[in-house]
Amino acid sequence: MYVVMVTPECAPVAKVGGLGDVVQGLSYELTIRGNAVEVILPKYDCMRYDRIAGLSKACDSFWVPFYDQAIHCDAYAGLVDGLQCFFIEPHSHHNFFNRGIFYGHRDDPERYAFFCKAALEFMLKTGRHPDILHCHDWQTGLVPLLLFESYKLRDLSHPRVCFTLHNVGHQGHTGEHILRQVGLNPALFMRPDRALDDHTPGIVNLMKTGIVFSNFVTTVSPRYAQEIRTTTLGHGLQRILQVHGAKFAGVLNGIDYNTWNPEIDGGIPFHYSADEPENKYRNKEALRRRLLLRQEFKPMIAVVGRLDRQKGIELVRHAIFYALTHGCQFVLLGTSPDARISHEFWQLKHELNDNPDCHLELAYNEELSHLIYAGAEMIVIPSIYEPCGLTQMIGMKYGTVPVVRNTGGLADTVFDADYTPRPYHERNGFVFNDYNYTGLESALNRAVHMWYNAPQYFRELAVNGMRTDYSWNRPGRDYLNIYEAIREK
Ligand code: ADP
Repeated sequence: MYVVMVTPECAPVAKVGGLGDVVQGLSYELTIRGNAVEVILPKYDCMRYDRIAGLSKACDSFWVPFYDQAIHCDAYAGLVDGLQCFFIEPHSHHNFFNRGIFYGHRDDPERYAFFCKAALEFMLKTGRHPDILHCHDWQTGLVPLLLFESYKLRDLSHPRVCFTLHNVGHQGHTGEHILRQVGLNPALFMRPDRALDDHTPGIVNLMKTGIVFSNFVTTVSPRYAQEIRTTTLGHGLQRILQVHGAKFAGVLNGIDYNTWNPEIDGGIPFHYSADEPENKYRNKEALRRRLLLRQEFKPMIAVVGRLDRQKGIELVRHAIFYALTHGCQFVLLGTSPDARISHEFWQLKHELNDNPDCHLELAYNEELSHLIYAGAEMIVIPSIYEPCGLTQMIGMKYGTVPVVRNTGGLADTVFDADYTPRPYHERNGFVFNDYNYTGLESALNRAVHMWYNAPQYFRELAVNGMRTDYSWNRPGRDYLNIYEAIREK
């Protein structure tokens, strides 16, 4: 099959969070299974250009109609760890993708509306005829609509669209001008069964648009699929997901075992495996040395992730103090684009600066993240909601026991050491239900208690996690089945 991913992120060149990892991991898996995969991205100025091999012009000068003008674009081709990627570069005063950061601008809907149109024009201009267009999150929600309404009538008649919802907390709400911008008549689409937001009159919902016009819609875990269809976690999309329920499913993400694997990881000083996990503890020492923490007989607890409200930052903060007052060390790696949250954590960092058991690294640091996964013994993820979550799966691969809230993909991947009907060898972490301090403590306390008092059992839990297959093997097969089902035959 010939699959083209249209996406705002792809690791490691353009990654903000899990979406980037997923596009990369799934694309590799599909390639290994003998499919042709290409990825189309914006050409951001802040990409990791050092990770692109052979970047060169793939398509000189094409024009993308936008409002009543046309924007001159080039497309570049390059290999990202062997994956064929194309980067769209517009030349206009809007400066769409030269902003120093990926997201967070007021005109994000316009930037990505343009990208959707440009990706389709690029395919048209270069005569690409994929079987499947796989689009990711609201940023690409206009692709299925544009394909259906205009490009199918031109030379892009075959592709069928799979649309993946990575996080419905961000839906791309904007005005109806966005439709005019890409050459569509708003009067035809501002209807409840099309682009109109279900709850706000006059507003276009780009994620909903993608849902309505795609051939199949997935989200990133079965539990989250259930939650967003039936509870307020759908952030208003419940009705439309029920209407389109027959073409909607949750497929649990995988993690890329070429990137995340303690047996071969170039980013950690000591390799180890489920059969020989002993070296994990040498990585813990290395992590302590690197972060100037003291070498003492204490468990190391970590948090890695975006410091977003969704991630349960009040409980993250509480976990730090709980850990430090209960004989543990704590490492946090995270950033926030939100100035208030960022300020809050910088204050916390100053407060804890001289504590020999704690380090807060308020930055994005891919390389340090590998050492943290390898060196820590527990990873805390107290999310309010979590579509899938990769950090618990990465943690488990590195023998780091997850302590998580019972929501979304966390509920689908972490099985409590004490409270689960699952057989013993499938238990791999600690889970709590209520989003409050008591809930968090109920799980963290059991984890710390086991580390101190039943170390053999704790190690077995860690090894159970290491042995569970969270690779792309199964989800890769699931996606191929979906593609096969919707593909034009
Ligand atoms: P989300 O997609 O909501 O951000 P996920 O758990 O799905 O959360 O994916 C997070 C990914 O981003 C993981 O690969 C994690 O290691 C990485 N990550 C998040 N924050 C940082 C950071 N500050 N430095 C390095 N990697 C990070």
